[in-house]
Amino acid sequence: MGNVVIKLGINEITEMKKYYSKQLVEKNPPGSVFSAKTPGCVITAYNSGKVLFQGNDSEKEAGRWGSVALSAGAGGAKKVVSSAKGDLPPGISQMSAIGSDEVGTGDFFGPITVVAAYVKKEHIPLLKELGVRDSKDLNDEKIIAIAKVIKDVVPFSLMTLKNDKYNKLQQSGMSQGKMKAILHNQAILNVLEKIAPNQPEAILIDQFVQPSTYFQHLKSQKAIAKEKVCFSTKAEGIHLAVAAASILARYAFVQYIDKLSEAAGFKIPKGAGAQVDVAAAKLIVSKGRDILPSFVKLHFANTDKAMALVNKRKF
Ligand code: MN
Repeated sequence: MGNVVIKLGINEITEMKKYYSKQLVEKNPPGSVFSAKTPGCVITAYNSGKVLFQGNDSEKEAGRWGSVALSAGAGGAKKVVSSAKGDLPPGISQMSAIGSDEVGTGDFFGPITVVAAYVKKEHIPLLKELGVRDSKDLNDEKIIAIAKVIKDVVPFSLMTLKNDKYNKLQQSGMSQGKMKAILHNQAILNVLEKIAPNQPEAILIDQFVQPSTYFQHLKSQKAIAKEKVCFSTKAEGIHLAVAAASILARYAFVQYIDKLSEAAGFKIPKGAGAQVDVAAAKLIVSKGRDILPSFVKLHFANTDKAMALVNKRKF
C-alpha cells in the first residue's frame, strides 16, 4: 500500500474528474477539486495541481495520468517504489511504449491474433484524435476504420495462430496461456527489431497470467523480451499502445472471420454461444467433420454440442 503524488495542469484535472465521474466522493477535503474512490485507490486532486493517490492501486492509477512523480507525504519522506514485479512505472501513460494484446481466445471460430504496437509519446495526441481508445467501447465498424488509419502510423507486429496449428498445439498438451505468452513475446521481439535503434521506455502487456507464469511459459524460447516489460489488467486504459494493439488485433481477427465466412459460404458468428454450435453443425453437414479443425478451437465444448445437433437432426 503506497501513496503517489503527481502534479497536473487544470485541464488534466478536469479530464480526470470526468474520468472518475461515477466514483466521485461527495465530501471534498479542504482545498481539493475533487475526491474519488476506486476499489483499490482513493484519488484526491488539489487546487494546487497536486493529485494524491492512496491505496494498493495507487501506482497503477497514477500511471494513467503520467507526469512527474513527486514524493508523497509531509517532508517528502516517502519514495515511490516501482521495482516490484508487475508494478507499473509512474507516468507510463505518457511514455513511448510498446503495448500488446490478443483477440480470439474465447471465440470458438477463428484464430488467436496477437498484436504488439509501438506508440511514441509524440504520437499519443494524434492517436487520441484518430479515436484510439478501449476497443470494448468500439464496434467492429469503428475498429476497422481506425485500424486502417493507424496501421500506417504505428509500427506493429501481428501474430496469427491459425486453427489447425492451435488444435495441434492444444492436443499436444500446451495450454492456451502458454500459446499466448509465446505469441506476445514474439510480437514484442518483432516490434523491438522493427523500431531499432529506437527503444521503448516501457513494454506493457495486457495481463492474462501472473508475470511469473508468463516468464515460466517462455522458458524454452530462444529470445525473451524481459527488460522494461510490465503487466496490467485493463491495460488498454493505461497506455494507448495497448489500445492500438487491441484494435489492430481485433481488425485482423474480423478479417480472418470474413475469410472463414467466405470459405464456409455463410456468415461465421463470433463468441462461444449457441449460435456458433448451429454454425458449426451447418459447416459439418455441408463440408464434413474433417473441415472443423481449420475453422474452430476443437477443445471448446461447442464441438460436442455441434455434433449433437448434427446427430439429433439426423442430417
Ligand atoms: Mn487482453
